[in-house]
Amino acid sequence: MFVRKGTIYIISGPSGVGKGTIIRELLKSRPLLKLSVSATTRPPRAGEKNGIDYFFLSPEIFEQAICKDDFLEWCPVHSHKYGTLKSEVMKQVDKGVDVLLEIDVQGALKVKEKLPEAVSIFIAPPHMDSLKERLKDRNTEDQDEIERRLAIAQTELSFQNRYDYRIVNATVEHSVKEILKIIERRSLVL
Ligand code: 5GP
Repeated sequence: MFVRKGTIYIISGPSGVGKGTIIRELLKSRPLLKLSVSATTRPPRAGEKNGIDYFFLSPEIFEQAICKDDFLEWCPVHSHKYGTLKSEVMKQVDKGVDVLLEIDVQGALKVKEKLPEAVSIFIAPPHMDSLKERLKDRNTEDQDEIERRLAIAQTELSFQNRYDYRIVNATVEHSVKEILKIIERRSLVL
């Protein structure tokens, strides 16, 4: 029996652009879309749960996972390592489930190289000041980390043209609507 494969949607954008909120709203509108839970060596923030927000791994266990070829991609991001686990993605795609990856630009390029049929979407801020404000307001990073993330944001923005789609996050509603259009168009093609 022919089973339609699921589509991988990659969402990237600089820290503070509002990806988390957009993705939460997207999953409410499209409950069959599965968000892949990444692994990271970053310690959990207040309220984050292992297996839900991330799989929080020690650097040693993360290295073991690299050696076992458990990752579709992994990258150093900010001061830690982050990786997409094959176990979170490939079985779902084979079953016909669409999977969303929220990963950085380096990871996105690696996934597109391995799986060119994946759909990549870059979320851009309306202006750099909005990133600074959001990072300050959410109060989860200290000043040094905020400065580091803003510097990295400039590099990330230089990759936006390599994505299949670019959305300026003017409002969450606008971004969610645009992503839903992309998903709907894609499901008509397949
Ligand atoms: P945060 O520490 O704020 O949760 O995430 C920092 C950055 O890591 C974000 O830009 C996010 O997209 C990226 N990230 C999260 N999971 C992964 C992953 O599995 N692979 C890669 N390459 N980046 C990731």
